[in-house]
Amino acid sequence: MYLKELEINGFKSFSDRIQLNLTKGINAIVGPNGSGKSNIADAIRWVIGEQSVKILRGSKMEDVIFAGSDRKKASGFAEVTLVLDNSCREIDMDFNDISITRRMYRSGESEYYINKTQCRLKDIVEMLMDTGMGKEGYSIIGQGRIDDILSNRSDGRRIIFEEAAGITKYKHRKAESEKKLEQTEKNIIRLEDIINEIS
Ligand code: ATP
Repeated sequence: MYLKELEINGFKSFSDRIQLNLTKGINAIVGPNGSGKSNIADAIRWVIGEQSVKILRGSKMEDVIFAGSDRKKASGFAEVTLVLDNSCREIDMDFNDISITRRMYRSGESEYYINKTQCRLKDIVEMLMDTGMGKEGYSIIGQGRIDDILSNRSDGRRIIFEEAAGITKYKHRKAESEKKLEQTEKNIIRLEDIINEIS
């Protein structure tokens, strides 16, 4: 699986729609300081569900929307689509290409789409889990992440190895099941109380 295409519209410095066609193997983005190279990496993080304003280098989420310039007025929304080549079926969906889209309006409302069908962020997170492409994945290595890998903190390194080993998805499901179990146990206790009261 590899990142095949990236379309950015109204995101950070990209006021007009741009489309980047990427190839298998190494692609390099070069340009002068401040030309938007890091904004491209931010767009990739954002579309796969990054919610941390700090990681996206802003002070509020609205900062991802093009803020306007001397010659162009501000955008009303930001939209990013990435297309993954899934011909190897690493993602268990019967499509050669899988597109993921996120659109955010100034109201703060975000919409997510998989192959142009509206979905929840949860669907995207689960789809990408254990592919390495997820927001916690090891395929996006920011500066902080390098510290995690190099640090002596075993928990930081562990997250990366768990994603690579493909167990993140199961850990996530286990945590969800434990939460449901806990809720069910509380309900049972509550029910027992009611039964005791009325009997
Ligand atoms: P460097 O090589 O110095 O790291 P870079 O090519 O990675 O630079 P970026 O950090 O991607 O550059 O882009 C910075 C530019 O993006 C700045 O000029 C900043 O004003 C612009 N920018 C960021 N957010 C917005 C926004 N919401 N609206 C308009 N422009 C923005």
